[in-house]
Amino acid sequence: MQNSSDHFVFEAWVYIVNIVSRIAFPLLVLLGCTVSASVAAINPPKAAASVKLEEWCRRLVVRLPGITNPMCQRSELSPTGINSLQGFPLLARQIPAVKKNGHDHPPLRVLLMGGIHGDELTSASIVFRWLEWMPTAAAQHFEWRVVPVVNPDGLLARRPNRVNANGVDLNRNFPTPGWQHDAPRYWATRTKSDPRRFPGHHPLSEPESRWVHDEMIRFHPDVIISVHAPFGVLDFDGPAQPPRRFGRLLLNRVGVYPGSLGNYSGVHKNVPVITIELPNAQKMPSEAEVKRIWLDMLGWIMDNVEPQAELTRVRAVSLPDSASSTPLKK
Ligand SMILES: [Zn+2]
Repeated sequence: MQNSSDHFVFEAWVYIVNIVSRIAFPLLVLLGCTVSASVAAINPPKAAASVKLEEWCRRLVVRLPGITNPMCQRSELSPTGINSLQGFPLLARQIPAVKKNGHDHPPLRVLLMGGIHGDELTSASIVFRWLEWMPTAAAQHFEWRVVPVVNPDGLLARRPNRVNANGVDLNRNFPTPGWQHDAPRYWATRTKSDPRRFPGHHPLSEPESRWVHDEMIRFHPDVIISVHAPFGVLDFDGPAQPPRRFGRLLLNRVGVYPGSLGNYSGVHKNVPVITIELPNAQKMPSEAEVKRIWLDMLGWIMDNVEPQAELTRVRAVSLPDSASSTPLKK
């Protein structure tokens, strides 16, 4: 009896410690926000923002090639209010346009994301680098929503992992039409049930993919840039002239998958998606190449992306219902 009671007490302690460890980090961040709010009443807002970022950056930068702690803390990211499965906050930054675009329409809206796959470390690093260049003239024509690390649990796993803490490939978890039928079948037959490509049990089953989906509704991007590695190409889905090259990366369409962001947004929601596949997941491209990709990307957006409001207006006038659904490629 004594043993069983001890065992119960032990199990209860394990349970409590487990629960506390799961909520401790979000609570610390929440506390950080509260402290920041009260600090903000006394100090300038920038001092408050750095309080919130400190712990977040300390945990992440050890995994990010080419990114220092001060660089991360200069990123001005702030909490989205959403945490990963393991309670790591998803941080983002919204940057308004400051330059007139010479047209009468509002500035183009760009959703830029890295680190959807946790083991593609450079895909998060390059977004931090580009954040530093947001105050440059070419970037200031656009309104930005930037999320450098969409899958922090994968990035922070003992060994960085493509999938999230539930073992789900977030880039197969978006609600493409026919997902319930196509995604599990594609996974079983084409990937031979590769655990790195498990699409989940339901579309948007994961907090990280749900956040991206909700952000598409809230932010209404005119174009989405999603950074990956290590295939060294550009992929493109959606209604615009595809880019030919960014830096050394050439357009090479790698295919359309059930549940992928390119398929969901580009093919079915008519919001163009550029998937940048950097050539190496652990080693950053040269500084010159990071800049070339950035400048080519900004130039392509400026010349080829149309505001969604205008596209919708054109479609509403010119397309009959039967022509409005885009056939699935390949
Ligand atoms: Zn990837």
